[in-house]
Amino acid sequence: MQVYDSHCHIGLDGKVAPEDDHSRAVAASVGALLVVGIDAPTSQAARELARLPGVRWSAGLHPNDSTKFDEQWAIIDELGHDPSCVAIGETGLDCFRDRTPLAQQEHSLRAHLALARKLDKPVIFHCRDAFEPLFRVLDDEEPVRGVMHCFSGGIPEAKKSLELGLHLSFAGPLTYPKNDVLREACAYAPLDRVLVETDAPFLPPQSRRGRRNEPALIIETLTRLAEVRGLSLEAAAAATYDNTIRLFG
Ligand SMILES: [Zn+2]
Repeated sequence: MQVYDSHCHIGLDGKVAPEDDHSRAVAASVGALLVVGIDAPTSQAARELARLPGVRWSAGLHPNDSTKFDEQWAIIDELGHDPSCVAIGETGLDCFRDRTPLAQQEHSLRAHLALARKLDKPVIFHCRDAFEPLFRVLDDEEPVRGVMHCFSGGIPEAKKSLELGLHLSFAGPLTYPKNDVLREACAYAPLDRVLVETDAPFLPPQSRRGRRNEPALIIETLTRLAEVRGLSLEAAAAATYDNTIRLFG
Protein backbone atom coordinates (compact mmCIF):
# COMPACT_ATOMS: atom_id res chain seq x y z
CA MET A 1 0.00 0.00 0.00
CA GLN A 2 1.23 3.47 -0.89
CA VAL A 3 -0.36 6.53 0.78
CA TYR A 4 0.04 10.21 -0.16
CA ASP A 5 -0.40 12.84 2.56
CA SER A 6 -1.40 15.70 0.27
CA HIS A 7 -1.01 18.45 2.89
CA CYS A 8 1.21 18.62 5.96
CA HIS A 9 3.50 21.04 7.77
CA ILE A 10 6.22 18.81 9.22
CA GLY A 11 8.86 20.82 11.05
CA LEU A 12 6.46 23.70 11.68
CA ASP A 13 5.90 23.36 15.42
CA GLY A 14 9.57 22.60 16.19
CA LYS A 15 8.51 19.83 18.61
CA VAL A 16 9.58 16.87 16.49
CA ALA A 17 12.38 16.77 13.92
CA PRO A 18 10.83 16.59 10.45
CA GLU A 19 13.06 13.57 9.73
CA ASP A 20 11.36 11.69 12.60
CA ASP A 21 7.86 12.53 11.36
CA HIS A 22 8.99 11.46 7.91
CA SER A 23 10.47 8.12 8.95
CA ARG A 24 7.40 7.18 11.00
CA ALA A 25 5.27 8.12 7.99
CA VAL A 26 7.31 5.88 5.69
CA ALA A 27 7.01 3.03 8.22
CA ALA A 28 3.21 3.50 8.09
CA SER A 29 3.14 3.24 4.25
CA VAL A 30 2.94 7.03 3.82
CA GLY A 31 5.68 7.24 1.21
CA ALA A 32 4.67 10.59 -0.31
CA LEU A 33 4.09 13.90 1.46
CA LEU A 34 3.40 17.41 0.28
CA VAL A 35 4.89 19.93 2.71
CA VAL A 36 2.94 23.18 2.38
CA GLY A 37 4.40 26.64 2.95
CA ILE A 38 2.38 29.20 4.90
CA ASP A 39 4.76 32.16 4.53
CA ALA A 40 8.21 32.87 3.04
CA PRO A 41 10.36 31.16 5.73
CA THR A 42 8.17 28.04 5.90
CA SER A 43 8.05 27.81 2.09
CA GLN A 44 11.87 27.93 2.04
CA ALA A 45 11.98 25.28 4.79
CA ALA A 46 9.54 23.14 2.79
CA ARG A 47 11.87 23.34 -0.21
CA GLU A 48 14.75 22.11 1.95
CA LEU A 49 12.65 19.17 3.19
CA ALA A 50 12.29 17.98 -0.39
CA ARG A 51 15.71 16.36 0.16
CA LEU A 52 13.79 13.59 2.00
CA PRO A 53 12.50 10.75 -0.21
CA GLY A 54 8.94 11.23 -1.44
CA VAL A 55 8.64 14.84 -0.20
CA ARG A 56 7.21 17.55 -2.46
CA TRP A 57 6.67 21.18 -1.48
CA SER A 58 4.63 24.30 -2.17
CA ALA A 59 5.09 28.05 -1.71
CA GLY A 60 2.40 30.37 -0.42
CA LEU A 61 1.16 32.85 2.15
CA HIS A 62 -1.62 31.68 4.47
CA PRO A 63 -4.64 34.01 4.54
CA ASN A 64 -4.07 34.68 8.24
CA ASP A 65 -0.58 35.91 7.31
CA SER A 66 -1.76 38.20 4.51
CA THR A 67 -0.48 41.21 6.46
CA LYS A 68 3.03 40.00 5.49
CA PHE A 69 2.16 40.24 1.79
CA ASP A 70 4.12 43.40 0.90
CA GLU A 71 7.16 42.20 2.79
CA GLN A 72 7.20 38.56 1.57
CA TRP A 73 5.43 38.27 -1.78
CA ALA A 74 8.59 38.73 -3.90
CA ILE A 75 10.18 35.73 -2.13
CA ILE A 76 7.10 33.56 -2.54
CA ASP A 77 6.82 34.51 -6.21
CA GLU A 78 10.45 33.51 -6.72
CA LEU A 79 10.02 30.21 -4.84
CA GLY A 80 6.92 29.50 -6.93
CA HIS A 81 9.07 29.71 -10.06
CA ASP A 82 11.37 26.95 -8.78
CA PRO A 83 10.71 23.94 -11.05
CA SER A 84 10.63 21.65 -8.00
CA CYS A 85 7.77 23.65 -6.42
CA VAL A 86 4.63 21.64 -7.25
CA ALA A 87 1.86 24.02 -6.10
CA ILE A 88 1.01 27.58 -5.12
CA GLY A 89 -0.43 28.01 -1.63
CA GLU A 90 -1.76 27.61 0.81
CA THR A 91 -3.82 30.67 0.10
CA GLY A 92 -7.51 31.40 0.46
CA LEU A 93 -9.83 33.13 2.89
CA ASP A 94 -10.40 32.67 6.61
CA CYS A 95 -13.33 34.35 8.35
CA PHE A 96 -12.94 32.20 11.48
CA ARG A 97 -9.89 33.95 12.85
CA ASP A 98 -10.53 37.53 11.81
CA ARG A 99 -7.18 39.07 12.69
CA THR A 100 -6.54 39.83 9.00
CA PRO A 101 -8.97 42.09 7.12
CA LEU A 102 -10.78 40.20 4.36
CA ALA A 103 -9.75 42.76 1.73
CA GLN A 104 -6.10 42.06 2.50
CA GLN A 105 -6.68 38.29 2.33
CA GLU A 106 -8.42 38.69 -1.03
CA HIS A 107 -5.55 40.78 -2.42
CA SER A 108 -3.09 38.04 -1.50
CA LEU A 109 -5.40 35.31 -2.83
CA ARG A 110 -5.70 37.00 -6.23
CA ALA A 111 -1.90 37.35 -6.46
CA HIS A 112 -1.57 33.59 -5.83
CA LEU A 113 -4.15 32.86 -8.55
CA ALA A 114 -2.30 35.04 -11.06
CA LEU A 115 1.01 33.35 -10.24
CA ALA A 116 -0.51 29.85 -10.51
CA ARG A 117 -2.01 30.65 -13.92
CA LYS A 118 1.25 32.13 -15.15
CA LEU A 119 3.20 29.06 -14.04
CA ASP A 120 0.41 26.56 -14.81
CA LYS A 121 0.63 25.12 -11.30
CA PRO A 122 -2.25 23.99 -9.08
CA VAL A 123 -3.45 26.05 -6.12
CA ILE A 124 -3.91 24.87 -2.53
CA PHE A 125 -6.95 26.63 -1.04
CA HIS A 126 -7.56 27.20 2.65
CA CYS A 127 -11.21 28.05 3.29
CA ARG A 128 -12.47 28.43 6.82
CA ASP A 129 -16.01 29.80 7.31
CA ALA A 130 -15.46 31.55 3.98
CA PHE A 131 -17.10 29.56 1.18
CA GLU A 132 -19.30 32.45 0.09
CA PRO A 133 -16.54 35.06 -0.35
CA LEU A 134 -14.13 32.47 -1.77
CA PHE A 135 -16.63 31.29 -4.40
CA ARG A 136 -17.29 34.93 -5.27
CA VAL A 137 -13.58 35.48 -6.02
CA LEU A 138 -13.23 32.19 -7.93
CA ASP A 139 -16.32 32.93 -10.04
CA ASP A 140 -14.77 36.27 -10.90
CA GLU A 141 -11.36 34.82 -11.86
CA GLU A 142 -10.21 32.63 -14.73
CA PRO A 143 -10.24 28.94 -13.73
CA VAL A 144 -7.30 27.32 -11.99
CA ARG A 145 -6.52 23.71 -11.07
CA GLY A 146 -6.35 23.04 -7.37
CA VAL A 147 -7.62 21.56 -4.16
CA MET A 148 -9.87 22.64 -1.32
CA HIS A 149 -7.54 21.58 1.47
CA CYS A 150 -9.16 20.24 4.63
CA PHE A 151 -12.53 20.49 2.97
CA SER A 152 -15.08 21.44 5.63
CA GLY A 153 -18.39 21.88 3.80
CA GLY A 154 -21.40 19.78 2.93
CA ILE A 155 -22.74 18.62 -0.42
CA PRO A 156 -23.63 22.13 -1.74
CA GLU A 157 -20.09 23.43 -1.11
CA ALA A 158 -18.61 20.21 -2.53
CA LYS A 159 -20.76 20.53 -5.66
CA LYS A 160 -19.70 24.14 -6.23
CA SER A 161 -16.01 23.35 -5.64
CA LEU A 162 -16.19 20.44 -8.09
CA GLU A 163 -17.93 22.63 -10.68
CA LEU A 164 -15.00 25.04 -10.34
CA GLY A 165 -12.76 22.10 -11.30
CA LEU A 166 -11.24 21.68 -7.85
CA HIS A 167 -10.38 18.55 -5.92
CA LEU A 168 -11.50 18.00 -2.32
CA SER A 169 -9.01 16.93 0.33
CA PHE A 170 -10.25 15.30 3.54
CA ALA A 171 -8.39 15.57 6.86
CA GLY A 172 -8.84 14.42 10.48
CA PRO A 173 -12.30 16.02 10.92
CA LEU A 174 -13.65 13.25 8.66
CA THR A 175 -13.21 10.95 11.69
CA TYR A 176 -15.06 13.16 14.20
CA PRO A 177 -18.34 11.56 15.34
CA LYS A 178 -20.48 14.66 14.74
CA ASN A 179 -19.26 15.29 11.19
CA ASP A 180 -21.96 13.45 9.20
CA VAL A 181 -22.37 16.41 6.85
CA LEU A 182 -18.69 16.21 5.93
CA ARG A 183 -18.91 12.43 5.40
CA GLU A 184 -21.91 12.98 3.10
CA ALA A 185 -19.80 15.37 1.02
CA CYS A 186 -16.98 12.81 0.96
CA ALA A 187 -19.35 10.11 -0.29
CA TYR A 188 -20.82 12.51 -2.87
CA ALA A 189 -17.59 13.58 -4.62
CA PRO A 190 -16.43 11.56 -7.64
CA LEU A 191 -13.65 9.22 -6.52
CA ASP A 192 -11.15 10.73 -8.95
CA ARG A 193 -11.46 14.15 -7.25
CA VAL A 194 -10.83 13.04 -3.66
CA LEU A 195 -7.53 13.48 -1.78
CA VAL A 196 -6.53 12.76 1.80
CA GLU A 197 -4.25 14.73 4.12
CA THR A 198 -3.26 15.26 7.75
CA ASP A 199 -2.57 19.03 7.93
CA ALA A 200 -0.10 17.84 10.62
CA PRO A 201 0.77 19.02 13.25
CA PHE A 202 -2.81 20.32 13.32
CA LEU A 203 -6.18 18.52 13.19
CA PRO A 204 -5.41 15.06 14.61
CA PRO A 205 -7.91 12.29 13.89
CA GLN A 206 -10.45 11.27 16.54
CA SER A 207 -8.20 8.86 18.49
CA ARG A 208 -5.57 11.60 19.02
CA ARG A 209 -7.75 14.66 19.51
CA GLY A 210 -6.07 17.32 21.62
CA ARG A 211 -2.64 15.94 20.78
CA ARG A 212 -0.07 16.57 18.07
CA ASN A 213 -0.82 15.23 14.61
CA GLU A 214 1.73 13.64 12.25
CA PRO A 215 1.60 12.18 8.72
CA ALA A 216 1.66 8.53 9.95
CA LEU A 217 -1.79 9.14 11.50
CA ILE A 218 -3.33 9.65 8.07
CA ILE A 219 -4.21 5.93 8.07
CA GLU A 220 -7.06 6.60 10.54
CA THR A 221 -8.58 9.25 8.25
CA LEU A 222 -8.03 7.10 5.18
CA THR A 223 -9.74 4.15 6.91
CA ARG A 224 -12.79 6.35 7.57
CA LEU A 225 -12.72 7.62 3.98
CA ALA A 226 -12.64 4.03 2.72
CA GLU A 227 -15.67 3.15 4.91
CA VAL A 228 -17.59 6.21 3.74
CA ARG A 229 -16.88 5.31 0.10
CA GLY A 230 -17.44 1.57 0.52
CA LEU A 231 -13.87 0.76 -0.50
CA SER A 232 -11.08 -1.32 0.94
CA LEU A 233 -8.30 0.63 2.64
CA GLU A 234 -5.96 -0.40 -0.19
CA ALA A 235 -8.35 0.83 -2.89
CA ALA A 236 -8.87 4.17 -1.09
CA ALA A 237 -5.10 4.55 -0.72
CA ALA A 238 -4.52 3.79 -4.40
CA ALA A 239 -7.23 6.19 -5.64
CA THR A 240 -6.16 9.12 -3.45
CA TYR A 241 -2.49 8.47 -4.28
CA ASP A 242 -3.16 8.52 -8.04
CA ASN A 243 -5.36 11.62 -7.74
CA THR A 244 -2.67 13.49 -5.83
CA ILE A 245 0.01 12.56 -8.38
CA ARG A 246 -2.27 13.67 -11.21
CA LEU A 247 -2.96 17.03 -9.55
CA PHE A 248 0.55 17.90 -8.42
CA GLY A 249 2.61 15.96 -10.96
ZN1 LIG B 1 -2.28 23.75 6.09
